[in-house]
Amino acid sequence: MNAQNNLSHNSHAIVIGGSMTGLLTARILINHYNRVTIIERDRLPDQPIYRPGVPQSRQGHVLLERGRAILEELFPGFQEEIVARGAHPLDMAEDLAWLTPFGWGIRFDLNVIMLSCSRFFLEWNVRRRLNAFPQIKFQQGSEVKGLLMDAEGVLVTGARVRTGEEEKPLFADLVVDASGRNSKAPQWLEQLGYLPPQETIVTAHIGYASRVYEFPEGLDADWKGFLVQTLPPYQPRGGFLLPIEGNRWLVTLGGGDGDYPPGDEEAFLEFIRTLPTPVMYDAIQKAKARSPIYCYRGTQNHLRQYDRLSQLPDGFVALGDSVCAFNPIYGQGMTAAALSALLLDRTLKAWQKDSLWGFSLHFQKKLAKENAPLWEMATTEDCRYQTVVGMSPTPSVRFMHGYMDRVVALTTESVFVRQTLLNVFNLLTPAIALFHPKILLRVLKKVLLGGVRDRAKASKPLPSQFKLQNHA
Ligand SMILES: Cc1cc2nc3c(=O)[nH]c(=O)nc-3n(C[C@H](O)[C@H](O)[C@H](O)COP(=O)(O)OP(=O)(O)OC[C@H]3O[C@@H](n4cnc5c(N)ncnc54)[C@H](O)[C@@H]3O)c2cc1C
Repeated sequence: MNAQNNLSHNSHAIVIGGSMTGLLTARILINHYNRVTIIERDRLPDQPIYRPGVPQSRQGHVLLERGRAILEELFPGFQEEIVARGAHPLDMAEDLAWLTPFGWGIRFDLNVIMLSCSRFFLEWNVRRRLNAFPQIKFQQGSEVKGLLMDAEGVLVTGARVRTGEEEKPLFADLVVDASGRNSKAPQWLEQLGYLPPQETIVTAHIGYASRVYEFPEGLDADWKGFLVQTLPPYQPRGGFLLPIEGNRWLVTLGGGDGDYPPGDEEAFLEFIRTLPTPVMYDAIQKAKARSPIYCYRGTQNHLRQYDRLSQLPDGFVALGDSVCAFNPIYGQGMTAAALSALLLDRTLKAWQKDSLWGFSLHFQKKLAKENAPLWEMATTEDCRYQTVVGMSPTPSVRFMHGYMDRVVALTTESVFVRQTLLNVFNLLTPAIALFHPKILLRVLKKVLLGGVRDRAKASKPLPSQFKLQNHA
């Protein structure tokens, strides 16, 4: 059904949560509804600054090329605008120095662009774009406390919204849960007599810690960003350094198996010093810190299987982190959110019926299919850690680890392999592309030669072109 055509002139949708999923969903819902209300617990700052509802936003966030392209599609001119305000467009193969566990990734001009900026700067820019649509209203400082149901108990008709001391009903034709990984929607459904979705949590006890630095003066480096990839369990520590708005760097460290990067100055620097290259350590020595160190550990993969329920009330759908939140190591969350918003758009457009009866489960099943390869990528990676909980490494998972190690090793010598892998990472190409005969044959050769992981454990001398010089 195209709700715009079939519902009353005053059709209304509610989006719970005004973070990336909520914002992008609101943008597509105006294709179908006359009015969209985003209900957000936080007061939304008119500056690009931290807000408590998105606690992970102080950590480094990578927006993948697919996500960047969707933002550009939804908000034409977005890249130009955000770059003019201080974001950095980085070519992932050219501008990012990438230390794999097997050596440096080959660098070349690929034109797979990553918009590098802080997470709250990105969200603020999207929010500003939404202000241009009069159909979208933000109801800030308001928290959804539950769902409203029709008399028959089969259709969600709105939400119970608390603002200050007051709780009021807000009625809508569609309610979308975009309230993130701590969503209460399963409990709200239970209160209405429905079974909650089954939940799966896979965790490898990964922690992040991040700090902002000023660009050092007189920096002479041939990279704009920098990434040290992990190889658990041999090398569970990694990190990345990315330029963000305001001519600053955001340095993010990651450690798994409970080897959490620390929050105190000395230990933070020591963690960087133990990475398998001194480049990041040297760079930090020359830069002034401009923020405290922020630690974050809520990195579990968390799946809520709405698609498996036999009954789900109509007039309600869930998407983004509230359905499927990933271990952030692959930087998939925001792009998955963008993809799920587009899927909702397509599914609503293709729905030819006069009402939304049956739509909720239909959509959740489609979403589950779309999320499945991303979930598999993230959880397969987590199975490398010794302390992983929620999943065990099956023979096929172990096979994938071995295969991927060889593919990653090949990115240090083959442009074709690195290009293919980056396309897969950026969700431009399905993962099956990594089994292209040209890659398969080279992987087999590596298997016959052996020793790939031994190389990862050995120390890696720094190629001269990556050396950081400071002529200040
Ligand atoms: C450490 C870390 C690093 C990450 N790195 C990356 C990365 O590099 N790249 C990437 O793409 N993704 C990354 N992610 C994932 C990314 O942060 C999320 O996927 C992204 O924020 C989209 O999430 P969301 O909008 O679904 O939920 P959230 O961002 O969690 O937002 C939920 C919103 O709902 C609001 N809310 C919650 N409950 C209610 C309620 N009852 N009523 C009203 N409002 C409510 C909250 O205040 C908040 O604004 C990372 C995540 C973590 C934890």
